[in-house]
Amino acid sequence: MLTIQALHKQFQQQEVLQGIDLHVQDGEIVALLGPSGSGKSTLLQCVGGILPPTSGEIFIDDTLINGESGHISYMPQHHCLLPWRTVLQNVLLAQELSGTINKEEAAEWIERIGLGDYLHAYPHEISGGMKQRISFLRALLSPQSLLCLDEPFSALDEITRHKMHIWLLDMWKKRQKSILFITHQIDEALFLANRIYVLSDRPAIIKAEIQVPFPKERTKELLETEEFFQARTQLLNLLME
Ligand code: ADP
Ligand code: MG
Repeated sequence: MLTIQALHKQFQQQEVLQGIDLHVQDGEIVALLGPSGSGKSTLLQCVGGILPPTSGEIFIDDTLINGESGHISYMPQHHCLLPWRTVLQNVLLAQELSGTINKEEAAEWIERIGLGDYLHAYPHEISGGMKQRISFLRALLSPQSLLCLDEPFSALDEITRHKMHIWLLDMWKKRQKSILFITHQIDEALFLANRIYVLSDRPAIIKAEIQVPFPKERTKELLETEEFFQARTQLLNLLME
């Protein structure tokens, strides 16, 4: 699905990404876990075609996509809702661009994420957490098969975040999407991902690649198991090294 080879990114004198190799296979959920300021958003912006890499290659299947947008569904760290469009119109944006609109489904999902009363509200009328949920939904419902999500749940309270995790897994199963997401939360990475890449401090390299040892079906009971606790300690140690 996605292959990144020897990706370097430099801003003026500052080297941010120092040779990143990673891949996402069809149907996988992969987490990028790293300290803040390490270059995670920069990496995703390169994949989304918003920033050109300084060197290295990004492929979707066998197509080189350096500097090209539109190949993936990308949710930026700061929501990019259009202020002149309603909640529903914002969710439909990605579908409109590809010419396959499903209004009923979008409205059902908006209801499901608890924003049914805000279908026709404008972004300035809703909270930051609501905007994040809408931006997430827009990515989820867009037609591309790879979703790249930059800290999709960071602005949400614990309970809402957990519900979104369950929806993401549900949607992933139904739609056979592949997902690459950024987080700085160990629990989130472990709960959602099949594999985790741990990034170093800037300039970022891949410090470790971890196969998450849990079954594909994830339920909240997993969070209380001994295995989960051990995996979390291992990751925490890695991050602190
Ligand atoms: P993270 O998402 O891991 O917190 P970022 O990728 O946002 O980190 O930023 C990594 C570094 O790259 C930071 O030092 C930031 O200042 C720098 N950076 C990010 N975008 C730009 C840009 N457009 N121009 C110059 N420097 C940038
Ligand atoms: Mg970031």
